[in-house]
Amino acid sequence: MAEARPRILVSACLLGAPVRYDGRAQELRSALLDQWQAAGLLLPLCPELAGGLPVPRPPAEIEAGSQGWQVWLGQARIRDAQGGDPTEAFKAGAAAALALVQRHGLRIAVLKEGSPSCGSQRIASGHFDGIKRAGLGLTAALLRQHGVQVFSEHELDAAQAALQELVSWQVGGAPA
Ligand code: SF4
Repeated sequence: MAEARPRILVSACLLGAPVRYDGRAQELRSALLDQWQAAGLLLPLCPELAGGLPVPRPPAEIEAGSQGWQVWLGQARIRDAQGGDPTEAFKAGAAAALALVQRHGLRIAVLKEGSPSCGSQRIASGHFDGIKRAGLGLTAALLRQHGVQVFSEHELDAAQAALQELVSWQVGGAPA
């Protein structure tokens, strides 16, 4: 029988790893996630830890009015609540996520919504006021730019549909 290989990059905090800035996890309870995990389909990563940041760490947000892709273009920075600038660590973590995805040939990611790294539809306002706005984090932006389908934890059914399409396409023999 063919050995299962990972198919989905997942934010480590969603699997219960205590890697958030406050030292807590953001565990997601989902039968689908359990099913993927049992089948060996998940590859967990915390981009911020992969970029060298510690736990705990000050909360950080993309500058108000800016998006993750603008950080990549050098038009915006990440700021933390103590006035620090962890932009380079965030970029290094996103690059580590991309390298992992490419090493394993992954085409799908399920990332934690709202994070300046992992958010795929919502990010913080940039004012440390608890308000979210439409936006894309650094890791999500980089993965999307490289063709990875990025979903949030609120879109597991869509991720499952993408997975099924990918598997049937590969089993059926995609044209080169
Ligand atoms: Fe979770 Fe992503 Fe934040 Fe790490 S960077 S704690 S994986 S949301």
